[in-house]
Amino acid sequence: MEEGKKDVELVRCLYCGRDIPDNHPNCMHCGAPSHFQKRGRLDVQKKFIIYFIILTISVLLLAFLLPR
Ligand SMILES: [Zn+2]
Repeated sequence: MEEGKKDVELVRCLYCGRDIPDNHPNCMHCGAPSHFQKRGRLDVQKKFIIYFIILTISVLLLAFLLPR
C-alpha cells in the first residue's frame, strides 16, 4: 500500500552541497530548509519565463505599431 514512497526525488542542498530527499522539510546534514530552496528556484524560473514572454510580446507589438 505504500508504493510511491520509494520514488523520492533528490535535491541538492545549496548550503552543504549534499543530496537530500525531497520529502524532507530540512536538510539532514546542515538543517537548511530543502523545500524552500527547491520552490524558490522554481519560482525564479517561472518569473524569468513570464518576463521573457512579456518582453517578446512587447517587442512584437512595438514592431507592428511602429510604421516601417
Ligand atoms: Zn545541507
